[in-house]
Amino acid sequence: MEGILEGRKKQISRVGQGAQEIDCGKVSLAGSVSQRACVFCGSRVVLYPIVDALHIIHGPIGCAAYTWDIRGSLSSGPELHRLSFSTDLRERDIVFGGIEKLRKALDGLIEKHQPKAAFVYTTCIVGVIGDDVESLCSQMEKEKGIPIIPVQAPGFQGSKKDGYKVACEALSKLVGTLDKPVPKYSINILGDFNLAGELWILLDYYRKMGVHVNATITGDGRVDDIRNAHNAELNVVQCSGSMTHLAKDMKEKYGIPFMRVSYFGIEDMSDALYDVARFFKSDELLEKARILVRDELNRLIPALAEYKEALNGKRAAIYVGGAFKAISLVKALRLIGVKTVVIGSQTGDKDDYKLIQQLCDDDTIIVDDANPVELSTFVKETKADLFIGGVKERPIAYKIGLGFCDHNHERKEPLAGYDGMLNFAKEVYATCMSPVWKFVR
Ligand code: SF4
Repeated sequence: MEGILEGRKKQISRVGQGAQEIDCGKVSLAGSVSQRACVFCGSRVVLYPIVDALHIIHGPIGCAAYTWDIRGSLSSGPELHRLSFSTDLRERDIVFGGIEKLRKALDGLIEKHQPKAAFVYTTCIVGVIGDDVESLCSQMEKEKGIPIIPVQAPGFQGSKKDGYKVACEALSKLVGTLDKPVPKYSINILGDFNLAGELWILLDYYRKMGVHVNATITGDGRVDDIRNAHNAELNVVQCSGSMTHLAKDMKEKYGIPFMRVSYFGIEDMSDALYDVARFFKSDELLEKARILVRDELNRLIPALAEYKEALNGKRAAIYVGGAFKAISLVKALRLIGVKTVVIGSQTGDKDDYKLIQQLCDDDTIIVDDANPVELSTFVKETKADLFIGGVKERPIAYKIGLGFCDHNHERKEPLAGYDGMLNFAKEVYATCMSPVWKFVR
């Protein structure tokens, strides 16, 4: 652990003898250059896939750089979410206030696009100058007749995880405002963002089982479905880091239970189907789930065999936003013969890290809220062949001449479900076996 900042040492551990409990859930250490993004980013990634809502950023244009282009949440209908609106605050607005600019922007955009709702994100500078966005939103909500929801997300208020909470609070204002009957066996899917169309794979599985998906929060999300989400019988939560807050809120307000699932890898994907069937105590659902899983595995296992043979003994480093996904990735990699040697997350909690300690092999390095120096040190030390992460980990991998697999919001291939597992195996194979490495290592 040489070269690690003193204040970071309790957030790093090694599986095996003398392993320490990870001290997680902390504010990032000053000077550590955390891989975590800001509060605004956290709120935006959660709310942004609601495709028939207007998303407007009240702040300088730089905050609005985080657009659809770098986050591929797909829509089966409206594409309003792909447009990135900003009030583009300048020096004059900072001195005299930007609220009038926001009023005009909302007025014009609602007229033009007729959205089902509007989310108004406030970023750092608005947190400093104190524009009264709450009052404006409630005033305009009455004028325009649609929900206009302030999302108070100045970046300096915390980290991405705090942004998730802000987004859940915004969603909570929508849930329960519409009452439509829903069929038997109705669930809401929370925390899938329909990257590369992954949600559509899951909807197909649940449809085959006879389970009705009432609202998808927020992948390919619709405002009216979210407003009616309180009528489902169960919340199925995938990205637990981002959505557990809303699931707990709905349990408290409407008595809807929730379960955590993951759709990555064979084991976790199958459990996600079986657990829903068991929740409804339905033999019929369970039998349909069994048939679905059996058919998918019959197709998938032989297809994975050739990748496993080629990849046996390869080593991977994982650093992703949520720890639950990291856990699924360890299992998915094992299935194709790849050993995890470094694993970490931005937002994992103590229970997640305990599970990771139990799951991983001795000597695996576990790291919470890492920085680029730590990550490059660990992947070099453990001789990883592959780095699995997101947009901020990609340059780390490339700079040190390491294969990279994108498992974040920018991915263009679906990696969830059984088809996703096959895509994942193909991507790991193509990356690890690329002839390019013989020229750079
Ligand atoms: S840290 Fe502040 S200024 Fe930077 S992107 Fe986030 S909200 Fe905008």
